[in-house]
Amino acid sequence: MTDEKRYSDEELYSRCLRWRFLDDRYDSICVDCNGSGIKIYSSTSTYFYGVGGCAMTHDVCDKCWGSGDESNPFRNIKKLLVQKKEN
Ligand SMILES: [Zn+2]
Repeated sequence: MTDEKRYSDEELYSRCLRWRFLDDRYDSICVDCNGSGIKIYSSTSTYFYGVGGCAMTHDVCDKCWGSGDESNPFRNIKKLLVQKKEN
């Protein structure tokens, strides 16, 4: 027997956002990843269209780049890789 506390889906989502220093009342939560910073790529490709595997592939969100916040995205990895190739 555990003392595991049960949360509703809404409570759990809100707690997960707070764990990531996001607030569910905040209006710039990334709509692509719902604030998780991670997406499932159904084509098996990753954010840079590389081969990801033979099944659904999870990788960093290509909209917020992992921050979960559209107004404050992390660095665009794809853009950095293109710049690196050009130099
Ligand atoms: Zn995102």
